[in-house]
Amino acid sequence: MGTFDAIVVGAGPAGSTTARELAAAGARGLIVDRAEWPRYKACGGGVPLRAERMLPFPIDSVVEDSVSRIEMSARGRMAFTKRSRGPFARMVMRDRFDMLLLEHAQRAGAELCTGTVVRDLDLNGRARIRGNGFEAEAEVLICADGAHSPVGRMAGLGDGLAECAAWEVEVRGRPRDASVGEATTLIDLGYDPWGYAWLFPKADLLSIGIVLPREEAGSMKALIDSYLDRLGLGEAEVAIRRGHKIRFRRGGEAVASERVALAGDAAGLADEFTAEGISYAIHSGRLAARAALRTLGGAGDLRSYQEELEDEIQPELDAARVIAYMFYGMLKRARRPWMLASEHTPFLWGSLFAVQRGESSYAREAKRAAPLTAVATAMLRRRDRQAAL
Ligand SMILES: Cc1cc2nc3c(=O)[nH]c(=O)nc-3n(C[C@H](O)[C@H](O)[C@H](O)COP(=O)(O)OP(=O)(O)OC[C@H]3O[C@@H](n4cnc5c(N)ncnc54)[C@H](O)[C@@H]3O)c2cc1C
Repeated sequence: MGTFDAIVVGAGPAGSTTARELAAAGARGLIVDRAEWPRYKACGGGVPLRAERMLPFPIDSVVEDSVSRIEMSARGRMAFTKRSRGPFARMVMRDRFDMLLLEHAQRAGAELCTGTVVRDLDLNGRARIRGNGFEAEAEVLICADGAHSPVGRMAGLGDGLAECAAWEVEVRGRPRDASVGEATTLIDLGYDPWGYAWLFPKADLLSIGIVLPREEAGSMKALIDSYLDRLGLGEAEVAIRRGHKIRFRRGGEAVASERVALAGDAAGLADEFTAEGISYAIHSGRLAARAALRTLGGAGDLRSYQEELEDEIQPELDAARVIAYMFYGMLKRARRPWMLASEHTPFLWGSLFAVQRGESSYAREAKRAAPLTAVATAMLRRRDRQAAL
């Protein structure tokens, strides 16, 4: 049996960031993943600049495109384009991007074990994990095992997180095949009660997908097919089709115990406005490594991770949820006037691009729109209280 200071389950952006930071600080860490790497991950592969800025190495080698424009529409109508002053996101394929992050973790000294499904967890004494013919133990365990988080569940963490559904197709083609301009992403709104479809350009693929409330999951494939038709891509070759859920932490849910912490999607760290999670996965990986190092050094335990997450990440998720409630709520009640109003409200786009570029935050932008956001927050709290009855 292997013995380590820390075990990280899941080698996505959250896990590889945790493992890299632990190894860089001298901890003996093992990272375990059930997949053989590089592995495909259903994801738009939009890496906002704020996520790239959190990494201490360049990601140019895996960037397929950079985008500085968004073309908005509502079910193909009322289209308008907004431009950021400079790129706001990098477009990557997740197999290559995640592999790069993992290589940096290995280079820092993390040990890697792929093709190993963790099936059992024992928390009596140290944290001990088992898979087929595999066993390892450590002082602390970080579960960065994605939105289903099987190992997090074994630890009794991550209960009560909200969730939505997403569906992704990778289509062979170039932006011009769908009459899309250079450096442009498409966002198509107007799905009930909220959600959006997207097109993200890659080198020779177009990542096209949709995110909807969980209850609407059954309609996703048909909606994507009609979106492809509208884009003139109905006959294009589809390389991959894949669905996955995305979880949302709304505050208070337990994501850490004495020797276990959940990072990234396992902890529901995606925001409810864009459903984006890569930046939070990297951020939480850093916090988890910090808390693990403190624990290994004898200063407290991993519960301090949850306290830091409440301070550093949860305010962003809360603000994004309030913004989503206002934005999609207006769109649902008054689609045409809201599309027109959004087109002619530069403040909205300046704010969104600044957040994506890492020059501002949802929390800061929400404060600028007070008292509107205060009213929306109160309405959301009332709705949450009613739902809890
Ligand atoms: C369709 C879709 C589109 C998205 N688009 C975007 C986007 O454009 N931009 C963005 O920022 N976010 C996007 N997201 C969200 C983003 O994909 C996630 O937030 C991000 O992948 C979280 O990273 P992670 O490291 O927490 O988990 P993951 O990347 O999911 O990694 C989890 C790892 O855990 C491993 N694992 C799971 N169970 C076990 C087990 N029992 N034993 C061993 N290993 C295990 C898995 O193999 C996997 O490699 C999208 C999500 C979906 C579903």
